Amino acid sequence: MSKVNLLNYSLDDLIEYFASIDEQKFRARQVFRWMHLYGVADFELMTDIAKSLRAKLHELAEIRVPSLVAENKASDGVIKWVLQVDDNNKIETVFIPENDRGTLCVSSQVGCALECQFCSTGRQGFNRNLSAGEIVGQLWWANKRLGHNPKDGKIITNVVMMGMGEPLANYTNVISAMKIMLDDNAYNLSKKKLTLSTSGMVPWIERLKNDCPVALAISLHASNNAVRDKIIPLNKKYPIEQLIQACKDYLVSSPKDYVTFEYVMLKDVNDSLEHAHELTQLVKNVECKFNLIPFNPFPNSGFESSSRNQIMRFQKVLHTAGYVTTIRKTRGEDIDAACGQLVGKVKDKTKRQEKWSKYILKPIS
Ligand code: SAH
Ligand code: SF4
Repeated sequence: MSKVNLLNYSLDDLIEYFASIDEQKFRARQVFRWMHLYGVADFELMTDIAKSLRAKLHELAEIRVPSLVAENKASDGVIKWVLQVDDNNKIETVFIPENDRGTLCVSSQVGCALECQFCSTGRQGFNRNLSAGEIVGQLWWANKRLGHNPKDGKIITNVVMMGMGEPLANYTNVISAMKIMLDDNAYNLSKKKLTLSTSGMVPWIERLKNDCPVALAISLHASNNAVRDKIIPLNKKYPIEQLIQACKDYLVSSPKDYVTFEYVMLKDVNDSLEHAHELTQLVKNVECKFNLIPFNPFPNSGFESSSRNQIMRFQKVLHTAGYVTTIRKTRGEDIDAACGQLVGKVKDKTKRQEKWSKYILKPIS
């Protein structure tokens, strides 16, 4: 019989599991704190747990954390970890230190099925969803490597679900993982500092609002359906007007009073000043901020980033219309840790790379 991985369980799930093995609620809480607050993955080191219970847990369960296969540190302090989740699959997690915060960029899937054209993860194809334990295991690992001690406060203050994969396409596991991240017996993140980024899975944005409202970032990347359809195939299913409406509805229960719209700047695709004006109209009834992302190139992408000047002109239109608009600093570039560059050597089961190689050099009309 295979052992259950306790890292998959939120505190409520763990309490339920403990009840199923005739153990008390407070014991579940103790084990939960050992795992997540103190980073302990060995039952033997849980010194205030009775020996008999430790032996029982050892027999029935395990705390399986991903294993570290590589660590790269960029010249700007960004660290990328490559973690092995099973014999065939690796994922990537990125730590971004700043003066006043430490942000961890977490993956939710091995690869991604959504095929956004400008994204190297999307080009790699999809292998599988990560379990809740594999998602939260990235935070567990990062704390371990960074020498986190609960007495000294947090090193990782913010988590963004912006690594490999579309978090809302792995809904149940992502919700369980985020609940663990927010739990004050575990990582105690603030809801405002846990951000889920989605390419626009409208029905799941609505569910998220009720199940686990956290800060929301939307990969908008276009000001109309014609452009968005071309670069984000999912837009054909959930067009831009539905997405904007879902954002408005989300704000009713959001821990933040605005949505962040991410906008990757693609030369001659979505970066004209007309696009910027159109964007201001599109979002005019939504409390929001913009984050303009210079496109991070990868081989055979078929795209170029807009020039710095064009990005600043675009920003000015949004500013003038009253929108707070930042330009994302590209971090970790020298170790391929920047946005959209995470690939984790995914095995391309869908043969998507082969398919793409026929198309990628065609310009987008
Ligand atoms: N699947 C989710 C989260 C992961 S992608 C989403 O799409 O929102 C994280 C962010 O990186 C998204 O805003 C995505 O659009 C952006 N991105 C993807 N490829 C990029 C690239 N090559 N350059 C810059 N940003 C990119
Ligand atoms: Fe998937 Fe996000 Fe990349 Fe689109 S941008 S392919 S949704 S990871």
